[in-house]
Amino acid sequence: MADIIQLLPDHVANQIAAGEVVQRPASVVKELLENAIDADATLIKLIVKDAGKTLIQVIDNGKGMSATDARLSFERHATSKIRSAEDLFSLHTKGFRGEALASIAAIAHVELKTKQEQDELGTQITIEGSDVVSQDIVVTPKGTSISVKHLFFNIPARRNFLKSNTVEMRHIIDEFHRVALAHPTISFAMYHNGSEMFNLPESNYRQRVVNIFGNKTNEKLVPVEETTDVLKISGFVGKPQFAKRTKAEQFFFVNNRFIKSAYLNHAINSAFDGLMKDGSHPTYFLNLTVDPKSIDINIHPTKTEIKFDDEHTLYAILRSSVKHSLGQFNIAPVLDFEY
Ligand code: ADP
Ligand code: MG
Repeated sequence: MADIIQLLPDHVANQIAAGEVVQRPASVVKELLENAIDADATLIKLIVKDAGKTLIQVIDNGKGMSATDARLSFERHATSKIRSAEDLFSLHTKGFRGEALASIAAIAHVELKTKQEQDELGTQITIEGSDVVSQDIVVTPKGTSISVKHLFFNIPARRNFLKSNTVEMRHIIDEFHRVALAHPTISFAMYHNGSEMFNLPESNYRQRVVNIFGNKTNEKLVPVEETTDVLKISGFVGKPQFAKRTKAEQFFFVNNRFIKSAYLNHAINSAFDGLMKDGSHPTYFLNLTVDPKSIDINIHPTKTEIKFDDEHTLYAILRSSVKHSLGQFNIAPVLDFEY
């Protein structure tokens, strides 16, 4: 009998993982921005060319990496963020899978420059499709800069399925909004093809929402605040008369992580019952803080879905606190709005 099973070489495993982690340029944007946040950066710059098809670069002023860590960061399952399975239940970082950089480097040309505060000189590493092309000592400021070029250069099928620049840019802006909203105290800037698209100074949550969605948003916002044993809620819902035909301004964050939840969205919709025209969607920017032990984020590699221990209680609290806030602002049920 012949044995036929073999362990896949790392670069093949990385490329397979990349299929899940990196769907499009926006996925790279999300992973790099989150790494910058986990590195305690206070200033993060995103530079994009051709909707990320030519270049995605994130520059941060965070804690940087040693030369050894810089090299190791591209290995699969290499992470500084958890050490044991228990740590999964007390996560305070965005990352923990140690997969993003390995995946991105498997399907793109990557250049990393990084330096820690105490070091005189930093490290520069170039990787193309999991192969380390060079590693040098360089002069570079404290923090990390990662450039990702020629995404999917070795997966033509993926590259060909990328959408128009307009569509890919829309996805990138969505990711940028989500990360910037989750972290109002961090400064973010974004440039596309050389022009500045966003420049968001350090601010409070209301200012951050307004800086992203425009001054007119300010008058629309109704604060929602609630603290219970299991859940803290803070943020804003939009007044019913400003409800949208699209769901573009619906944001849930759980422990500073953007998540999608049809169930919690339903809780909000039901709080707005009778206040809005059919077919319109409330806007909301809500931050939920829960005990990390009571959630599981490890459902999908992109981490936008989440499992709560007690969804029903969260639903009830969310619904009643939004209703209460709407009530406090004397928003009477009116069914005929001008659109
Ligand atoms: P994860 O974020 O899940 O740990 P990544 O592949 O995204 O996995 O990153 C691997 C490791 O590289 C991180 O755990 C971190 O130690 C380091 N790293 C990545 N990006 C940065 C950065 N911008 N600044 C400092 N360290 C970083
Ligand atoms: Mg990461």
